[in-house]
Amino acid sequence: MTTDFQDSLDYVKEKDSSDPLAKFKNEFLFPKNSNGEKAIYFAGNSLGLQPKQTKSFIDQELLDWARLGVEGHIQAKNPWLPYHELLTEQTASLVGAEPIEVVCMNSLTVNLHLMMVSFYKPTSTRYKILIEAGAFPSDQYAVASQAKFHGQNPQQAILELKPRAGEDLLRPEDILKTIDEHGDSIALVLLGNVNYLTGQCFDMESITKAAHKKGCKVGFDLAHGAGNLFLELHKWGPDFAVWCSYKYLNAGPGAIAGCFVHSRHAKNVDLAKFCGWWGHNKKTRFAMGPEFDPLEGAESWQLSNPPIFQLAALRSSMDLFHKAGMFALRKKSDHLTGFLEYLLNKHSLCEIITSKNVKERGTQLSLRFQKNPKQVLEALHKKNVFADFREPNIIRAAPAPLYCSYQDVYGFVEILKEALAE
Ligand SMILES: *Cc1c(COP(=O)(O)O)cnc(C)c1O
Repeated sequence: MTTDFQDSLDYVKEKDSSDPLAKFKNEFLFPKNSNGEKAIYFAGNSLGLQPKQTKSFIDQELLDWARLGVEGHIQAKNPWLPYHELLTEQTASLVGAEPIEVVCMNSLTVNLHLMMVSFYKPTSTRYKILIEAGAFPSDQYAVASQAKFHGQNPQQAILELKPRAGEDLLRPEDILKTIDEHGDSIALVLLGNVNYLTGQCFDMESITKAAHKKGCKVGFDLAHGAGNLFLELHKWGPDFAVWCSYKYLNAGPGAIAGCFVHSRHAKNVDLAKFCGWWGHNKKTRFAMGPEFDPLEGAESWQLSNPPIFQLAALRSSMDLFHKAGMFALRKKSDHLTGFLEYLLNKHSLCEIITSKNVKERGTQLSLRFQKNPKQVLEALHKKNVFADFREPNIIRAAPAPLYCSYQDVYGFVEILKEALAE
């Protein structure tokens, strides 16, 4: 990437004034300090900020509930029965999927389990799940419990990808080699993309291809990918993907999550599946018959009628993503994160674990502080800067391109310099 970075306030002001996405900052509510100054918020990979319009999206449903009671299912301005369908097209476009491949439902770990019910089918010879060593704990618990559920010993069933000695990141060629060598015994390849701790982004297309060649199923946990990476899930071809909507997607704490199931499985009625009435044929759902007649595609994994307020909050946020466009967001993010990297390196403030290669990262940089990392974070927080700490010595900083500016990045580094001088 060609870069024109400069370490000056004039430069960042010029960058912000010529940034076509800069106007979106004003669409969000920021935590403020006692002087009323907006925070520099680099924790959007943990909990995204609240869009100003979210309140009106939720208020509409509160109003219709008050006005209409149960009739709101049909009579609300946006009727609740098909309400989740309002999200289908924008969600499909966000992750590069066909509409039939996506649904918003449940929460992330629940969706991961539902997907493993369908796509982790261990046999006596093919029973392993390949994950990253140090995967997000919920994912580790989920895969271990699935292995046990199938009568497997998690110690034997879970195969972990570890970086080489002395390295922090997995080498892409090592991932492919492991799949090639162990593929015959692997039932499911499941990687978190972007990795929550290191910020490493994996090439989903080559991993999917290598795994499918060996007859493995492939799923991705896109908790740190949705709303961050430019995704083409349909084309890349994993069997499934799951993500949450409260990180980069700004749909609020505990927001309703997303799920992708590739269209090659859309009509497969033989796939093992845990079922509920919201996955049933919409035309006959209220005939209340005893036989399950599944919808086609990802919607058929729905269990319950969904939480409308959460879907409303997600619609508000997806509206902004749709207006900004994921391609433009990724482009700004590459530049903004590159600028943060440039300043941190120029002033030798910390070690950056995340890859230098923009194709191997998203928005987040994981910074290693050998000395007093917790104090560094506290000092940042006192100065109205949000980032987060992960044991033992990593601070994660994610300048989300939808509401972070070049001035924020510049300010972050200025404040970090002061914090380290203390
Ligand atoms: C944030 C995150 C989770 C959290 O799971 P929930 O079910 O939403 O609580 C799980 N896995 C990964 C990789 C995450 O980054």
